[in-house]
Amino acid sequence: MTEAILVLNAGSSSMKFSLFREGEAEPALHLQGQIEGIYTAPHFVARIAAGAVLDETRWAEGTRLGHDGAIAYLLEFLRAQLRDYHLIAVGHRVVHGGLEFSRPVRVDAQVLTKLEKFIPLAPLHQPHNLTPIRVIAAQAPDLPQIACFDTAFHRTQPPLAQAFALPGAITDRGVHRYGFHGLSYEYIAKTLPQYDPHAARGKVVVLHLGNGASMCAIGAGKSVASTMGFTAVEGLPMGTRCGALDPGVMLYFMDELKMDARAIEKLIYQQSGLLGVSGVSSDMRTLEASSEPGAKAAIDLYVYRIGRELGSLSAALGGLDAIVFTAGIGENSRLVREQVCRGAAWLGVELDAAANRANGPRISTSASRASAWVIPTNEELMIASHTRRALSPKQ
Ligand code: ADP
Repeated sequence: MTEAILVLNAGSSSMKFSLFREGEAEPALHLQGQIEGIYTAPHFVARIAAGAVLDETRWAEGTRLGHDGAIAYLLEFLRAQLRDYHLIAVGHRVVHGGLEFSRPVRVDAQVLTKLEKFIPLAPLHQPHNLTPIRVIAAQAPDLPQIACFDTAFHRTQPPLAQAFALPGAITDRGVHRYGFHGLSYEYIAKTLPQYDPHAARGKVVVLHLGNGASMCAIGAGKSVASTMGFTAVEGLPMGTRCGALDPGVMLYFMDELKMDARAIEKLIYQQSGLLGVSGVSSDMRTLEASSEPGAKAAIDLYVYRIGRELGSLSAALGGLDAIVFTAGIGENSRLVREQVCRGAAWLGVELDAAANRANGPRISTSASRASAWVIPTNEELMIASHTRRALSPKQ
């Protein structure tokens, strides 16, 4: 019987899953899928690794499956589908590990209590990440569950990079710059030596440009600074999030526009970024294809802010040997990559336009002082690898 690891990434309305086969040098993807719309109109789809649909179910509009129902359905599906497989562990993406968890951890009741304490630090994500852990622990108490954190990779940052200029009493409550997208950055840091061993030992800025977007300065394989901070709304403009905002704007929202916390939350998380600026879409493909002036304005601001952050992160590193583009926009948008690389000429980046059109992997010329790369990220594989390692008695 083949052993398998299940990887879960639970969001507010969807649950993504991947199943990895064990027994090879690294976990091998067997199938993946998701249940989306779990509180509105659930839709389950599972695909084999090559992409073909293996199974699909749609529930009626208005069905509230909820997280509990979604997990129960998923476990039942896996049980029925995988008669030849034996599930040895579940690896979970958990957004927040606070300052305490700088590596993945096997979750027991005590750890779960600690992770629940981080809910106020990430109220939009942490509760959803923890629900499947609780449900699976109740259904299969002996199945090991490993929490892998988006914050953990950043715990190597020097204290200065993690600090806000706030009074100590506030800092002591946990108001730090934590950084996110850590599993993606860790995957890139681990993979980069195959592409550019010199840069992997040196100073690299990774651009994770998906619906959520951030950048990370990596020195000798370790996180040194990042654009996301206390929450995942800081830093770059994103699909619908505004990114860095003068804190005084918050006071203006409250005093002049009479907005409360929920209204501000909705504005800065769901109505801003590419969507807010363009008035067209949060989706980069749609913006690139649009002739609306707002679409161009949104892309221009996006690229401008990436350029500013690139300078800041290069300063944190004291130089730059390479930049790496990853996630949906980073891996696919030739336009964004071209504009970012052209703006980074002063840092020694010389774009190879033909290589960029071909999606890389190297998109800088051989004469370029700093190299530029396109490397697809793989957070699920990172979680599966961590989960496997956490099971080994050596750890
Ligand atoms: P998430 O953060 O939800 O995982 P992704 O990493 O899938 O998001 O990134 C989604 C973004 O990638 C969207 O803005 C989408 O338009 C963009 N994207 C995907 N393919 C392309 C493409 N071919 N050209 C430009 N942008 C693309």
